[in-house]
Amino acid sequence: MIDLATTAAGGGKLDDGEHARRLPRGGPDPADPRPRLVATPAAARASGTIRGTVLPSAPATRGPLVELPPVTEPQPDPNAVAPAVANLDVIVSLAKRRGFVFPSSEIYGGINAVWDYGPLGVELKNNVKRAWWRAMVQERDDVVGLDAGILMHPQVWVTSGHVGSFSDPLVECATCRRRYRLDELPGTEELTQTDIKDPGIVERLKLACPVDGGKLSAPRRFNLMFKTYMGPVEDETAIVYLRPETAQGSYVNFKNVRESTRKKLPFGIAQIGKSFRNEISPGNFVFRMREFEQMEMQYFVRPGEGATTAFEEWLPKRMAWYQAYGVIPSRLRFREHAPDELAHYAKKAIDVEYRFPFGWKELEGIHNRGDWDLGNHARVSGENLEYFDPATEEHFIPWVVETAAGADRAAFTFLIDAYREEEVRGEKRVVLGIHPDLAPYKVAVLPLLKKRPEIVELCHRIKDDLKRQTMAVYDDTAAIGKLYRRQDEIGTPWCVTVDVDSLEDGKVTVRDRDAMTQERISADQVTRYVTDKLDAARPRGL
Ligand SMILES: [Zn+2]
Repeated sequence: MIDLATTAAGGGKLDDGEHARRLPRGGPDPADPRPRLVATPAAARASGTIRGTVLPSAPATRGPLVELPPVTEPQPDPNAVAPAVANLDVIVSLAKRRGFVFPSSEIYGGINAVWDYGPLGVELKNNVKRAWWRAMVQERDDVVGLDAGILMHPQVWVTSGHVGSFSDPLVECATCRRRYRLDELPGTEELTQTDIKDPGIVERLKLACPVDGGKLSAPRRFNLMFKTYMGPVEDETAIVYLRPETAQGSYVNFKNVRESTRKKLPFGIAQIGKSFRNEISPGNFVFRMREFEQMEMQYFVRPGEGATTAFEEWLPKRMAWYQAYGVIPSRLRFREHAPDELAHYAKKAIDVEYRFPFGWKELEGIHNRGDWDLGNHARVSGENLEYFDPATEEHFIPWVVETAAGADRAAFTFLIDAYREEEVRGEKRVVLGIHPDLAPYKVAVLPLLKKRPEIVELCHRIKDDLKRQTMAVYDDTAAIGKLYRRQDEIGTPWCVTVDVDSLEDGKVTVRDRDAMTQERISADQVTRYVTDKLDAARPRGL
């Protein structure tokens, strides 16, 4: 097995830590008997995967689970739920071997926590984004799309609070100069966010460098935004930021969108796009990257009650989306942020969490942002961002309920949750039982005899016809049994086999990935068969 942790510099597999800002505190599951990926700093150094900023994290406290409307079963005991895959390496290995995800710049040793999507990965991620867009924009009347720039006026990030508050507590060792996120140091497990903000915390808890025991500096806030310069002069006035969230693009375009679409409250603006965070300790494969892709929707509502109602409506909808695309309900749960854990803009935040192999972690956050964003932008820009309600003749700044998901994280989750190994006639079969809508290839067309030109020709005719509608592939590089297994492993829902009889009766065999059943259908009906099946499988009314 190829160990990506050592092929990519730093590997991004050490971190079990969490964002303090938007993500819950978490850590390895205490009930999980597996050895940690890297158990000690010394082991990490020995394996060549540690960098100054990387820490083995320790179990951490988490906020309370909240009582919510019955979306799924009652909240499960967090330690009772096993992950779909016990060892993340199984997924990392599959991803590399089959072309889902590669370490970035691998021929140069990789770059910490940046990953590239291979031929299958880009299909999977595009399908995830399409599925989200379909549910959030295409099939709704009250949400429209937007694609704002990554670079924005620098004042946006001052007004939004990101320049002042989008930071993690950083401490530095006086001996080795390694830098750590304070809340990931051993001995900080039980701390609240209020403790973490205490400037005397290092002294009070006698915290020391976990590598050499060196003296640690008092914590300072480390801003997570990437900076660059716009234009030819590299001075303070030319600083711009790579956006850390897509949301601000929706806020500064609120007036443009409302006026151009004539939307009435409540309505939403949805975006999919890259965001950037200079994490102190990224990791867990594509779970936390410094460059990542978001799927965010800002829902503008009447203040107060309007936001509370919308918040409660979006929660079950967002949970249902993951379930409709195949994630097992018992491996999903809600978790509410504790008051001192809330991001600077949030009045209330509840995460949809998934039981990853490395613990329960945030998949998506649903936030009541109040009028924080529009109110501040209106005040600082001087633009009138009020909404006029003709029914009540009121002017007001709308409140925002945000649903913030990650495209990488969602794709990763669907990949993990669909993975299974089973025994078929005494042999191990690896199957990616992924939802057909998300599968990279929908159909593989396979010849039973590749030496018969008429068979190969019919295969290509079927495949070319399919390709006009969906992703299909031809493969003749192995015997049929092996070809089936290869398609099972990458989640291809249907295999079409052309044999000698096909040349006589014009019929081909369609094999179902999950049931492994086969049926004969007319060769010229294959495209129709597949598009009908896809349409039937596609969730409705999400
Ligand atoms: Zn040190």
